Amino acid sequence: MEKDNVDVIIIGGGIIGLCSAYYLQKEGLSVTIIDKGPDERAASHANCGLVSPSHALPLNNLKTIRKSLLWMFQPDSPFLIRPQLDPRLYQWLLRFVINSRRQKVHHSMLALNQLLISSKALYQELIKEENIQCQWQNDGILFVCKKEKTFLDLQKDIRYTQEEIGLSAVPYVGELLQEKEPALKDDNYGAWLYEIDAHLKPDLLIDGLKETLLSRGVKIISDCLVTSLTNSGQVIQNVVTTKGSFSATQFVLSGGALSVQLAKVIGLRLPIIPGKGYSITMKSPGLSPKIPCIMQERKVVATPWKNGTYRLGGTMGLGGFNTTLNKTRLNALKSAAVDYLKEPFTDQVIEEWYGWRSMTPDGVPIIDRSPKHKNLTIACGHNMLGISMGTGTGKLVSEIVCEKELHIDSHFYSLSRLN
Ligand SMILES: Cc1cc2nc3c(=O)[nH]c(=O)nc-3n(C[C@H](O)[C@H](O)[C@H](O)COP(=O)(O)OP(=O)(O)OC[C@H]3O[C@@H](n4cnc5c(N)ncnc54)[C@H](O)[C@@H]3O)c2cc1C
Repeated sequence: MEKDNVDVIIIGGGIIGLCSAYYLQKEGLSVTIIDKGPDERAASHANCGLVSPSHALPLNNLKTIRKSLLWMFQPDSPFLIRPQLDPRLYQWLLRFVINSRRQKVHHSMLALNQLLISSKALYQELIKEENIQCQWQNDGILFVCKKEKTFLDLQKDIRYTQEEIGLSAVPYVGELLQEKEPALKDDNYGAWLYEIDAHLKPDLLIDGLKETLLSRGVKIISDCLVTSLTNSGQVIQNVVTTKGSFSATQFVLSGGALSVQLAKVIGLRLPIIPGKGYSITMKSPGLSPKIPCIMQERKVVATPWKNGTYRLGGTMGLGGFNTTLNKTRLNALKSAAVDYLKEPFTDQVIEEWYGWRSMTPDGVPIIDRSPKHKNLTIACGHNMLGISMGTGTGKLVSEIVCEKELHIDSHFYSLSRLN
């Protein structure tokens, strides 16, 4: 048994665990992070790196449901449901449908908006204060529409978010779009620029955060799988791991999509399923986009970085912890890029990757005390926005653990809303 007098043990060292550690350490607590990695499958590793307050509307809507039914048997579709025996998938899908009602979507939008806005501001502070070199670029994201209909559909969403939460975007059509982003093909109808968005290189952010934490005395234990938690009544006492048991006063569960498995061991049901996504990182094409482009009809993102690298990422596969690197899904990223970009990809591939997003049925994360344990805080279920919501989540976790005044309204992120 580890005898260190640790205040907080964090299970999972992805973006959520690291940001939680950062703000907890700032409160003066001693913190240990335990991770089974370095884990290349961690969603924080090779995602698209968007910090995107633009994404305040959850995926839940009837259009997504209709499209996903049409796409169900198309292996290269942006959204794929793999039918399974596991009833949890169908329970989750039913909840997704229930959360697609107008009132629910509005509620989720408010939840996402405040966490996204808070996180963007906190990133700017953190990156400056700690001098983290993660290629932060604050010049927006283009939502590129091949077809006029898509452009106009998006305009409806923008009118709605503008009225409700003041979130708007600037239109670029025809020549104006060409001037704004010459890497795009001439036959794209138009694009909406969300000036509020930013992007960064996620692996550099993770490395920079780890370095900062280590320099501040946070302990990171790697290659260490947490297999269970022991408790006495409502109090967690130890984490049991492949490197022995560790005790602490408080615990944070931030294991991404895998949190479900550990939660189950201690009798907690988290309504989270994995949402598999892919990316290809390569040397930038000669004519690379200057800012990230979301190819709206295909739901694929092209993210450029100033160090000469470039990533195509996206796709959503619901259907368990499938561990194959599916070439059809990877090729779908490239074929989408061919439709929108003059020089869509290069052959100088640096990494082909998949990762599991942790998907809640309403698109909103769970950041809450465990209903069964006084000293366990849950922070997972960040869907497609864990990078974008990392700092706000970390700060909220530290406030919950330290019982301080909360910087945002936490009721949106309760586990009970999903039961
Ligand atoms: C293709 C793709 C593109 C994306 N693009 C974006 C984007 O542009 N912007 C954005 O905001 N978000 C994006 N996301 C989503 C984002 O990557 C995730 O929401 C985020 O990384 C989740 O972070 P996390 O810390 O919760 O989980 P993870 O990064 O998965 O980290 C969890 C960690 O916990 C560890 N762990 C789990 N269980 C245990 C255990 N029992 N014992 C020890 N360790 C354990 C794992 O090894 C892992 O390191 C994307 C995701 C994908 C797949």
